[in-house]
Amino acid sequence: MVATVEVSCAWCKGTFSARIADRKRGWAKFCSKSCKAKKQEKRTGQNAVFHERREERRDTEYVGDEILDGMSDMDFGASDGGGYEHYI
Ligand SMILES: [Zn+2]
Repeated sequence: MVATVEVSCAWCKGTFSARIADRKRGWAKFCSKSCKAKKQEKRTGQNAVFHERREERRDTEYVGDEILDGMSDMDFGASDGGGYEHYI
């Protein structure tokens, strides 16, 4: 039998039963993982996350084009040479 205590979620204020041992460790502050994620998102700052995502997307697009150019050339050469060699 695990000793539990009724606590209210640090995000949605909903009550849930948490293990007393966990509470002593400073855990079990949220009723669910999504509440924890939302709370952490607010703490790190929506704005920071937004800017970070924009940076990430721009980098990916740039790198993506580079890779696409290189790959299409390589694909063309590979299918041309390798393919014929195999059949002949
Ligand atoms: Zn909650």
